[in-house]
Amino acid sequence: MKIPLKEINSGGIEVDFKLSPEILNASQVPEDLSPSFSFESEAQVALNLSREGSTVYVEGVANSSFVSSCSRCVEPSETKLRTPIKIQFKPKSERAAVGEQDEDLEISYYLGKEVELASVVVDFIKLDIPFSVLCAESCKGLCAKCGENLNNENCDCSIEKTGDSPFAVLQGLKLKH
Ligand SMILES: [Zn+2]
Ligand SMILES: [Zn+2]
Repeated sequence: MKIPLKEINSGGIEVDFKLSPEILNASQVPEDLSPSFSFESEAQVALNLSREGSTVYVEGVANSSFVSSCSRCVEPSETKLRTPIKIQFKPKSERAAVGEQDEDLEISYYLGKEVELASVVVDFIKLDIPFSVLCAESCKGLCAKCGENLNNENCDCSIEKTGDSPFAVLQGLKLKH
């Protein structure tokens, strides 16, 4: 998604585009560093671009959704993301003056006479993915003993946890002595 600088004026222009699941799923970090996720539909991106001199200001939002495993019950779970985008583009030639020290997400650089938007928006979306996802706040997770998904049914292991169990009474007696 490349926008020629000459199309961007100080009053601003609206730029809408979509990012394919292929682009969003590419370049995932290795699975041992991060939970795996899968984008199965396009991301909708709506940006406003304005320009003052050689600096381009980009602001807007990207709406996307991804599927990953619930961190409690391991069932696939869809999460919607509404990612705010805010970034400035400066000419690559200015980077040499500033030095290479800035890995700032708020500033990117363009070569030539156009700005490339897709890759920076993908970066924003990737950074917005939470480290762990729950299918629901109330997810009961898996039984630690038998592995049963407790959202679907209660296994027999959970009976011991209730106060009605004869074992609970025994434990109470032991504590008193
Ligand atoms: Zn869950
Ligand atoms: Zn169980």
